Amino acid sequence: MRILYLVGDSRSGSTLLQHLLSLQPGVHALGELRRLGALSRANQPCACGAPLGECEFWCGVCGETPAEQRTTENVPSGLAWRLSMLREATAIRGGLIPAGALFRRRSHAAAKECFRLYEAVARETGASLLIDNSKEPDHFLHMRASYPDLVEPVFLHRDGRGITWSKMRRTGVSAGAAIDGYIWMQRLIETARRAIGLNKATEMKYEELCEDPEGGLARLLSPYDIPVETVDLGELSDVRHDIGGSPTFKGAERREVKLDERWREDLPQDALEEFQRRASRLNHFRGYTD
Ligand SMILES: [Zn+2]
Repeated sequence: MRILYLVGDSRSGSTLLQHLLSLQPGVHALGELRRLGALSRANQPCACGAPLGECEFWCGVCGETPAEQRTTENVPSGLAWRLSMLREATAIRGGLIPAGALFRRRSHAAAKECFRLYEAVARETGASLLIDNSKEPDHFLHMRASYPDLVEPVFLHRDGRGITWSKMRRTGVSAGAAIDGYIWMQRLIETARRAIGLNKATEMKYEELCEDPEGGLARLLSPYDIPVETVDLGELSDVRHDIGGSPTFKGAERREVKLDERWREDLPQDALEEFQRRASRLNHFRGYTD
């Protein structure tokens, strides 16, 4: 069993990538596994429609310890969290296991909980490659520091103007708040990329994935000897058990791989100017220039 862990900002196309990967043989997508505990405590539904605590799949996977009793993430808070993230990044770079009681008690404990769930899901589904769409760079570092040989990242990028507009449209946040979130997330992603080594990190751009889904998937799956059989999202099952996905993929809405670049027409001029002033350097660094 191996884990492909998607790392990136929200609204970067990670749900699309997860679903495309899950269509291939021997691949199973978990969604945002790190949120399993919190979402079941909040009585949120699984993608199958049942509340997570009542979903047959997750009840079977969780066994005697129900999802709502599980601590699947070390919730970010304060300076200790930031320091432990940097310490984990340094240890990963050096090929070491991070030292310290705090790592074992918080970060590693959450990683171990997730790893046991990976194992149970692999048993249940027979999958050889699991997709964890948890996205958060800090949680990825806990996983990688704890299971360096089994957890591989894919760093997913999208034009920051697209991320900003998608967040504004979806959640109603102001341009300033959306840009703050973008900048903060890019910094965390860089910490995680540097921990892996910039020339070793596997990258994927949302725009390139939409342009050539077969090629993009083949590149990600070739290390696992998994062929790309289809990129037809219409083949996606309606009864799925991924956690916390994008609402676009719920229900019977038409599914296709289609590049969403509505920001080019719809992003308000003042928001675009604020983005250019505050974040264009980061966006250029990711290769988005026009
Ligand atoms: Zn379910």
